Amino acid sequence: MINRQWRLARRPHGMVTAADFERRDEPVPIVDLDAGEILLRTVMLGFDPAQRGWMDDVPGYMPPIAIGEPVRGSSINQVVASRNPAYPEGALVRGLYGWQDYAVACRAGEEPPSLVPTGVTPEQALGLFGGASFTAYVGIRDVGAVRAGDTVVVSGAAGAVGSVALQVARLSGARVIGIAGGTEKCGWLVDEYGADAAIDYRAENVEERLKALCPDGIDLFFDNVGGTILEAAIANLAWFGRIVLCGGVSGYNAEAPVPGPRNLMELVTRRGTMRGFILLDHLDRIAAASADLTSWTASGELRYRTDIQQGFENIPDTFLRLFSGANRGKQLLRLTPD
Ligand code: NAP
Repeated sequence: MINRQWRLARRPHGMVTAADFERRDEPVPIVDLDAGEILLRTVMLGFDPAQRGWMDDVPGYMPPIAIGEPVRGSSINQVVASRNPAYPEGALVRGLYGWQDYAVACRAGEEPPSLVPTGVTPEQALGLFGGASFTAYVGIRDVGAVRAGDTVVVSGAAGAVGSVALQVARLSGARVIGIAGGTEKCGWLVDEYGADAAIDYRAENVEERLKALCPDGIDLFFDNVGGTILEAAIANLAWFGRIVLCGGVSGYNAEAPVPGPRNLMELVTRRGTMRGFILLDHLDRIAAASADLTSWTASGELRYRTDIQQGFENIPDTFLRLFSGANRGKQLLRLTPD
């Protein structure tokens, strides 16, 4: 049995490319499971732009991926051998086992994986009930403290985090405007996700459109993108407006750190606040988020898209889709036997 892996071959410089990864095959580490350990086979992978940041040699909320290490990423795995009664063979778990077919889990000192509840599919566990949705919920409800009647603007609004952020804001009684790339995605924002308006940042002047759509200013801006889109939102912030920094995908592939917003001082005049957050600090809210997401989906009030690619060979190219905007919803990949 062979464990196929995609390893980080070198630190990407600027835009990540497929050549930054190398394919390696090694024997499956099945023989020597210690008491308590389990062997996992990867069923499905989830992709997040933040993985690009983990590829840089920069300290963050997680250690950088080492060169030569399988690329870290969220995964659903099946237990195929077990010396741990809490993880019976056949069970599905969720973890960060990354771009490989097999991994040993529950090693001493390591964070154990979480069991996927019965009835939840791998697609749901990484998608609707995955970290991106919980991030959106916490960012709008807790960090952004959304209020009924707020004018809320979301960037990256057609993506995994943004589409849920937009809908959680709408379901909290806000007026919502989404920013995304292209007419197709902007169509989803209004027709599927119930936005009051959409802005196509590839074709339109975002600052001018925000001015026209938000004459009284933006009360809450949920930002996934950074750069000039963040500047456009600051220029249109309402007095005492709030900005929630979730991510900055426009800068993840920059060759050097990008300067911050050039109009930051406008927060002074507008009495604005800007706050970043990481989901890992809000894990106590996942139960509430799951309950609301379940009920909104059942009632048809919340819609969710996944984009499922297939096959081990396609893993690097699937990751790159996040940076061209090719992904149509939460980016996933099913590992099928080749
Ligand atoms: P996603 O939105 O599903 O996919 C990435 C999207 O980013 C692409 O589809 C593309 O959409 C857009 N994009 C790519 N390059 C861009 C650029 N240069 N300028 C503007 N837009 C660009 O990804 P996601 O998983 O939902 O992640 C969204 C953000 O949330 C990321 O910044 C991620 O790091 C962050 N995040 C934060 C946390 C946290 O705890 N704070 C947790 C999870 C994710 P268009 O077609 O619209 O351009």
